[in-house]
Amino acid sequence: MASSTATDVLIIGCGMSGLSAAIVCAEAGRRTLIVEKSDSLGGSAMLSAGMFWAPRDVASAHSTIPFGDPTLQETFIADYLNAVQWMRDQGVDVSLAFHGIMSIGIGYPFKIMEFIDKAEELIFINANPLRCTLLLSLSAVV
Ligand SMILES: Cc1cc2nc3c(=O)[nH]c(=O)nc-3n(C[C@H](O)[C@H](O)[C@H](O)COP(=O)(O)OP(=O)(O)OC[C@H]3O[C@@H](n4cnc5c(N)ncnc54)[C@H](O)[C@@H]3O)c2cc1C
Repeated sequence: MASSTATDVLIIGCGMSGLSAAIVCAEAGRRTLIVEKSDSLGGSAMLSAGMFWAPRDVASAHSTIPFGDPTLQETFIADYLNAVQWMRDQGVDVSLAFHGIMSIGIGYPFKIMEFIDKAEELIFINANPLRCTLLLSLSAVV
C-alpha cells in the first residue's frame, strides 16, 4: 500500500557524506529522512584505514585527478581543514596530520566507529527523534 512521509530533507545513503549531512540537518532542526540500502552505517569508510585524506593543494589534486571537476577539487581543498575542525567540534578524536600520504597528500587519522557513534548520538538522540528518521536495509532508492 502506498504511503507518504513529509520531510524537509531526504538523504540517500549513510556513508560519511550522508551522515555528515544528517548531522547538519539535525542541528538545523530540519525534518530529515535518511535512507540506507544496507543494514549498517558508514559506507565505504568502514573499509578504510580511518585516515581523513586530501591532496595537499589544488595543483596536486589537478595532477592526480586530471579529469575531475576543478571547481569541486578547489572547494574540497579550500574547506578541508574546516572539515577536520568540524569533526573535532562534533567530539571525534582526530589525531595530528600525517604528511606525504600517497606521496602528495595530507591525512588526519580518526576512529571511524567513534564518528559513527557520535553521528548516531547527534542525529537520533540529541536531536528531536521525531525529526530524524532512519530507514535501513531498504531496496536501493532508484
Ligand atoms: C578500501 C578503501 C579504503 C579507503 N581509504 C581511505 C582513506 O584512508 N582515507 C580517505 O580519506 N578515504 C579513503 N577511502 C575513500 C573514502 O572511504 C570515501 O571517499 C568515502 O567514505 C565516501 O563516502 P560517501 O558517503 O561519499 O560514499 P559511500 O561511503 O560510498 O556511501 C554511500 C552510501 O550510500 C548507500 N547507497 C548507495 N546507493 C544507494 C541507494 N540507491 N539507496 C540507498 N542507499 C544507497 C551505500 O550503501 C552507502 O552506505 C577509501 C575507500 C575504500 C573503498
